[in-house]
This record gives sequence, C-alpha cells and structure tokens, in this order.
Amino acid sequence: MQCKDRWVKMSRMRIACVGGGPAGLSFGILARRQGHEVTVHERLPEGVTYGWGVVFWDDLLHELDEHDPVTATVVRKHAFHWRDHVVDVQGRAPVRIPCHGFSICRHTLLRILADRARDAGVHLHYESPVQDPAELGDVDLVVAGDGVGSCLRKRAQDVFGTEVTWRRNKYIWLGTSRVFDSFTFPFVGTPAGWVWSHCYGYDAASSTFIVEMAPETWRGLRLDQLDTDATMRRLEELFAAQLDGHSLRPPSGAGEAAPWLEFRLVTNRNWNAGIVALMGDAAHTTHFSVGAGTRLALEDAMGLADALREHVDLPAALAAYRERRAAELAAAQQEARNSAAWFENVPRYIDRDAVQFARLMSARRSTLLQHIPPGAYLQLEGLARRAPALNRAGRRAVRGLRGLRRPTPTS
Ligand SMILES: Cc1cc2nc3c(=O)[nH]c(=O)nc-3n(C[C@H](O)[C@H](O)[C@H](O)COP(=O)(O)OP(=O)(O)OC[C@H]3O[C@@H](n4cnc5c(N)ncnc54)[C@H](O)[C@@H]3O)c2cc1C
Repeated sequence: MQCKDRWVKMSRMRIACVGGGPAGLSFGILARRQGHEVTVHERLPEGVTYGWGVVFWDDLLHELDEHDPVTATVVRKHAFHWRDHVVDVQGRAPVRIPCHGFSICRHTLLRILADRARDAGVHLHYESPVQDPAELGDVDLVVAGDGVGSCLRKRAQDVFGTEVTWRRNKYIWLGTSRVFDSFTFPFVGTPAGWVWSHCYGYDAASSTFIVEMAPETWRGLRLDQLDTDATMRRLEELFAAQLDGHSLRPPSGAGEAAPWLEFRLVTNRNWNAGIVALMGDAAHTTHFSVGAGTRLALEDAMGLADALREHVDLPAALAAYRERRAAELAAAQQEARNSAAWFENVPRYIDRDAVQFARLMSARRSTLLQHIPPGAYLQLEGLARRAPALNRAGRRAVRGLRGLRRPTPTS
C-alpha cells in the first residue's frame, strides 16, 4: 500500500492495528485518545496468548505515567515486585545481588490494555487474522504489531529490508507454581553440559521458568526425543532443588512435541512500506535475557503516537517514528546481542568462583567482556570500583564496563 496522494487529515485517521499484543493494543489506546478511529485485529480469541510473566523496571512505569496514566496506575496495581538477583550454581553458595524490579502476567497485561482500549473507544476484533493489508479496506494507516513472525512484514520484506538471524541456544518458556521472590538464575551441571533457568515470580501464585541450554546439551540429554509431558518431568528432575516439589507448566497450546525454540533476532532497515508501519517484535526483537521486548513494544507505540501528533503529514510522521525509535533502540539491541552471546558462552565463565561468576553474569551486556579474558575484565572492574571513594566518575566507569547505559540498583 502506498501513502495516499492527498495529505491525510492527521486529526482523524482511520487506523487498523494488526495484532492485539502489547504493541497493537497500546498504540490503539494512544491513537484513539488523539481522536483517530482505531480497530485492532487479533487472530486469537480474547484471553488467549502465549508465555507467562514478563519483567520490567521503573522506567517503563514512568513512561506510562506520561503517556497514559490510567494504564500506568492499573499496571502498577497488578505488578509483582521482586527483589535481588540470585545466581545459584550447583555445588556453590548462591550469590545475592541487591536490585529490584517488577513483573506482570502477560494475560493480565493484555487484559488491562484491552479493557482500557475498549473504554477509550477502540474497536477490538478477536479471532480476526489479517494476512494482507488489502483485507482492511479503506484505512489511512496500518500498524503491523503482529509479532516476531509478522506476516504483514513478510509480504513486503524486501521493502522493509528484513534480516532474521537465529541464536544457537535452545530455550523453552515454562511456568511454575513455585513463587520466586528474587530473579533467580539456577545453573545445573549434567553429563551433557550446563542447563540453567531464568526464573522470577509474577503474581502471588506463579513464576516464569525459562530453561535454556546449548544445543549439544539438549541433544545429549535426549530432550530432542521427549514429548511435552516427558520433557516437563525431566526438567522437574533437573531443577528439583529449585522447584521444591512444584511442577512445571508447559506453554499454553503445547501439543505432543515439546515447544523448544531458538531465539530469532529480527531487524528491519525500513519500518514502513507505504502506510504499513512495523511495531514491536514485528520491527525488532531483543533477546529475552534482558527482559526488554515488552517495554520496547510499548515505547514504539508511544513513539508513533508522539510522531503523529507532532507532524503534519503521515510520511513525515512515519519517517520521524523510525528515526527516533531506531536511535533509541540501538544500545538496547547491542546489549541484548551481548547478553545472548554471554549465555551461548557459559563454559567461558562457569569455572570461576561463585562471586566472580555472578559478577561476570551481571556484566553480560558488556561489549568489552566479549573481547577480553574474563580475568582481565574482573580486574578492570575491580579497579573502577575502587576509584576514589566511588565518586560519580567511578560509578560511571563501572556502568560503562558492564555495558549499562543508565544507573540501576545494582550499579
Ligand atoms: C521467553 C521469552 C521471555 C520474555 N520475557 C520478557 C520479559 O521478561 N520482559 C519483556 O519486556 N519482554 C519479554 N519478552 C519479549 C516480549 O514477549 C515481546 O517482545 C512482546 O510480547 C512484543 O510485543 P508485540 O505486541 O510486538 O508482539 P506479541 O506480544 O507477540 O503480539 C503479537 C500479536 O499479534 C497476533 N497476530 C499474529 N499474527 C496475526 C495476524 N496475521 N492477524 C492478527 N493477529 C496476529 C498474535 O496472536 C499476538 O497476539 C520475552 C520473550 C520471550 C520469547
């Protein structure tokens, strides 16, 4: 679809959002509040989605406060507050790193956004898959928020300049009734290699439990040959110490074959093809080990809504949206690539003592750590930490080494 010749009346456009995830719903809310007529098409029935809980930090709540305080208040009310990172390598004392963050059940987040969208006057159509923008009739703007496998993106992938690369580790996104009050990383040794989990509570009765390992370990443990039920039992045995008698829950809709995945890294040179604009995972993905994809999807929504308000015509708004968001995303994407690579190189770090290993894990976003031996990195970080009285420059140096852009409670 091309931008129409006439200047679109930016004050009341007809907008179709394809995908009722965080990107499509939150953009729908913001665009409707600007007076546009908005319809969201979601292929699944209402209340059905993938995944368990997702983490976020104060920065997202502050951004929501600015853009949509009503949603911010409800998200805050339903957020689970976790404290500390715990790095728990089998056979060593667990290391606790002071910090804090939040998490929320994906179902809850989507319900909050859908309720808010309805109240704002957005038309929500569930069980309404869209394969082709032409199915949407006469609209001024199509937002492709249809996720990592976006079919609207695939239709025009040459125009978007899409690149998809696959990371090598295997992972599976599970839930459990064991509530982890801290964001915990248990590492379990097996004859086939190390297996670990990223786990955190997200409400009073549930936690996310993502299991990850190298593909050689996955095959060595014969997980490639087990169905979903047998996979749950095998992983429950491996993580028995952490699960404390609780069971693991498979992803919703999992069939007989256990739904192991490899992470797909998606980038796009252009974010719009005529009036079709990419948003959220359809535009870019960031590895789950940095817990940022939902925040970035919501920030995209805010970015496009701001651009529509600030520009007089649609092409200019879409260009500004892409330029601003691509610049804001660059650092997060680099950190996420480094973090994914860190987890692909666990054997490089695992023989360190418990405290050193935990420090190296906290530094997984660092580009420097990829390029110098871990021992040299630890020495440099130690020097920066001891910088005179840990003044502001010293703290900045530690953050810089770790690859963190802004202060966090651990820095
Ligand atoms: C294991 C794992 C853990 C994660 N943990 C975190 C975390 O802790 N914190 C965090 O911020 N992020 C996390 N993420 C990332 C986060 O889930 C995504 O980045 C986020 O969901 C992106 O939102 P979205 O709206 O772009 O896409 P989605 O949430 O994927 O939504 C896309 C929607 O489009 C619908 N759809 C698809 N095709 C069509 C079609 N043809 N027609 C209509 N509808 C369609 C889908 O059904 C879906 O509802 C994690 C991801 C993974 C894989």
